Amino acid sequence: MKRRGLLIILSSPSGAGKSTLARRLRDWDPDIQFSVSATTRSARDGEVDGVDYRFISEPDFKHLVHDGEMLEHAHVFGNFYGSPLAPVEGAITSGADVLFDIDWQGAQQIANSPLAPHVLSIFLLPPSITELRRRLEGRGQDTAEVIEKRMTRSWDEISHWGMYDYVLVNDDLDATKDRLTTIVTAERLRRTQQPGLSDHVRQLQIEFEENE
Ligand code: ADP
Ligand code: 5GP
Repeated sequence: MKRRGLLIILSSPSGAGKSTLARRLRDWDPDIQFSVSATTRSARDGEVDGVDYRFISEPDFKHLVHDGEMLEHAHVFGNFYGSPLAPVEGAITSGADVLFDIDWQGAQQIANSPLAPHVLSIFLLPPSITELRRRLEGRGQDTAEVIEKRMTRSWDEISHWGMYDYVLVNDDLDATKDRLTTIVTAERLRRTQQPGLSDHVRQLQIEFEENE
């Protein structure tokens, strides 16, 4: 039976394992699409325009927001970030899930949007603050100063854990990935995700009445 795609929102403090788990989820099901955010920040080494982000100017970003082309947007670390709406609508109508790596502000806006019935929001917590710091340092991507900024912001992000549908403590990576795929498997069966159900039940009714 045809299904509707989910908007899978994955949030966490930086370093808790969002990108790693997003990749694992897509290895599990390559049909899951990543929402490519637009941002006004500049690209880091190795980041590819159109793949990691769409890197755009602040005036262009403001035009997109003004024209209603952003599903949500937020100001994070001094830069603007937003999720373009059009690719999301196309994907979920055709039955593909879309994964968002966005912060709590974006999660809140999508949860209050007309697409709310199709949202699955998941928050990742680190096993401890010491481990969070260890992961940020181990990733080897940021300077000590940037790591301190991320740590300061982490608590703000963690304080919004209560607005998510599911909360996972990302201790063992394989165990977290298994929990994530279990959640997605179950949520795909939500009534709102199965647009063919009414027709199916109507068919059952016809058959039932014919057999009476
Ligand atoms: P985020 O996208 O949330 O900022 P990353 O996915 O980049 O975080 O993970 C930060 C670092 O922690 C990476 O080096 C990653 O390999 C590591 N990591 C992620 N999950 C785990 C885990 N469960 N156990 C140990 N290390 C992990
Ligand atoms: P970074 O600059 O490290 O890639 O991302 C910084 C933060 O911005 C992360 O917490 C990330 O989840 C968030 N972010 C990235 N894209 C978006 C977006 O489109 N919308 C919102 N609300 N947050 C985003």
